[in-house]
Amino acid sequence: MTEMTQRSARRTAADTEPMVLAFDVVVMAVQDLSATFRRITFGGACLEAFGVAGDSLDLRIKLIIPPAGRECPDITAMMGRGNWYQLWLGMDAEERGSMRTYTVRTTRRRGPHTEIDVDFVLHLDDDGRGGPASEWAAAARPGDRVCMIGPNASAAQCRTAGAYGGIEWSPGLAQHVLLAGDETAVPAISAILEALPEDISGSAFLEVPDVHDIQQIVTRSAVAITWLARRGRPHGVLLEAAVRDAVRVPGWVSLSGPDVMQGGSEPEDVDVDGTILWETPQLLDAAIVQSTVNPGRPSGTQPFYAWIAGEAAVVRGLRRYLVRDVGVDRKQVAFMGYWRKGRAELA
Ligand SMILES: Cc1cc2nc3c(=O)[nH]c(=O)nc-3n(C[C@H](O)[C@H](O)[C@H](O)COP(=O)(O)OP(=O)(O)OC[C@H]3O[C@@H](n4cnc5c(N)ncnc54)[C@H](O)[C@@H]3O)c2cc1C
Repeated sequence: MTEMTQRSARRTAADTEPMVLAFDVVVMAVQDLSATFRRITFGGACLEAFGVAGDSLDLRIKLIIPPAGRECPDITAMMGRGNWYQLWLGMDAEERGSMRTYTVRTTRRRGPHTEIDVDFVLHLDDDGRGGPASEWAAAARPGDRVCMIGPNASAAQCRTAGAYGGIEWSPGLAQHVLLAGDETAVPAISAILEALPEDISGSAFLEVPDVHDIQQIVTRSAVAITWLARRGRPHGVLLEAAVRDAVRVPGWVSLSGPDVMQGGSEPEDVDVDGTILWETPQLLDAAIVQSTVNPGRPSGTQPFYAWIAGEAAVVRGLRRYLVRDVGVDRKQVAFMGYWRKGRAELA
């Protein structure tokens, strides 16, 4: 076989491989970073097949949390039988467990082994009750097992967001950025900041419950990092004030220049109780909405980019402020409701 034929044979194999795989992972270590954050390190030989080509950035994974006292369903076997998600949903509710979304905080290679850190927010009431994922994390011990659904290293080889569906960070040509999020977005914002190069500037705002939740983030970039400790204040109040202060109207002038200031129309409302708030440049570039939002201006072509994630109603408020009041081009912002107050994650 010539080198060219070998290469195209490899490409064909990769093209037909699934983008995601199920990984039966084991808890290797548990570390309390603060009263809010618990870092759980997952390992397992299967993780050799886990990964993306570049930095993990805000790479999301799904975890299937097993019902108390039971094993995780065999998602790998379901993937072999077709639409695993429908098969999983069709299982008896007592047996299928709960699926929840988390961020890969760090991926480490230790010799031949891969380890993944996930930082869980422990949102528990005084009786220690929370959602299934939070309760599971609070009780997790080395040796416990869950199923992780994440990128297949040999298929998710493209570095750009959109090529693999689990990464949203996509600043394009922007050199001035805004990152804003609550505690659930701290792992993603931290990983993004760690990956940013020197020539990126801007602001990062991270709202957390308490000063003890503040973590060390190392970045080569010129992004100014501000931690906002809620200390009993309502969720999102500090975050919203900080974003309003950083991106002011009228007369907001940033490195982005006047180009981003046009527009200013009311974004269509999102019922955050009934649906998931998820609006990203990639989605807006998709044909179905392209005609209504700045047609002819592809995402990633402007000097300013913002990434906002956290409680859905807070994110919706920031979306309205940035898009309607400031006039930021929606194709330059990713708005993501990571959770909804009073509502469990769907599935
Ligand atoms: C792309 C993405 C990445 C994410 N990354 C992370 C991550 O790295 N770390 C992380 O901790 N979370 C992360 N989240 C958020 C996480 O998925 C939700 O918080 C999830 O609801 C937790 O599941 P649960 O089973 O504990 O609670 P659920 O069963 O979903 O909810 C039960 C109750 O708890 C409330 N609740 C849920 N989350 C919180 C919270 N954080 N604070 C207060 N109340 C809450 C709900 O409103 C509901 O009333 C991410 C979400 C997305 C979409």
